[in-house]
Amino acid sequence: MNIKFKKLNKTIVKCKKCPRLTNFIKKISLEKRKQNIDEKYWGKPVTGFGDINGKLMIIGLAPAAHGGTRTGRAFTGDKSGDFLFKCLYSVNISNQDFSRKINDGLKLNSTYITNVLKCVPPGDKPLNNELIKCSNYFIKELDFLKNLKVIVALGKVAFDNCLKIYKKKFKLDKKFVFKHGKKYLLPDQKILIASYHPSPRNVNTKIITISMINQLFKKAKKIAKI
Ligand code: SF4
Repeated sequence: MNIKFKKLNKTIVKCKKCPRLTNFIKKISLEKRKQNIDEKYWGKPVTGFGDINGKLMIIGLAPAAHGGTRTGRAFTGDKSGDFLFKCLYSVNISNQDFSRKINDGLKLNSTYITNVLKCVPPGDKPLNNELIKCSNYFIKELDFLKNLKVIVALGKVAFDNCLKIYKKKFKLDKKFVFKHGKKYLLPDQKILIASYHPSPRNVNTKIITISMINQLFKKAKKIAKI
């Protein structure tokens, strides 16, 4: 981790710019979920993690209430993370097929994982002003990841909000319509790939399967030259 990222992450973890979200995190972390009632929740904004020299970025919308907000790492300790890491392991993006807690030995191959918004919003619905406030952190991540070539957005909401931030940063006026597996050229020459979210609902209804997501990540690796 270089100094720029260390400084950024320190700022994010302490951030309280969105009182509605800060209060919601506090509430979740005090009430907890039945199966985690004896655990101490992370209870703060969640930073990105992985290889800061990586060519691939994987983004979600926001940390999960009892996943990232509990464990302190994105896509860690929840069912979406379980599914995602099964896929990432089978395509050699991660060194293990699970992501349960910080310090569980997880390593990513040329890949950085983050969320557009660093705090979980109620009902997974952030307000526009919260997205605007948090977008500066995401823009910094994009700037600091010098080798970044490909972004995989997990879910339409992450995809749309990533594009909102690009619109703000680059005055992008082109309309991109979400389609699973489709790739889009961004104004900074990075490639954005749209993916369905690895949520239990999408997995249980077979909207996505392991082989579909594996294929998508193989394509992302090929484009990024990993
Ligand atoms: S969503 Fe972003 S800007 Fe708002 S409090 Fe969390 S880290 Fe800060």
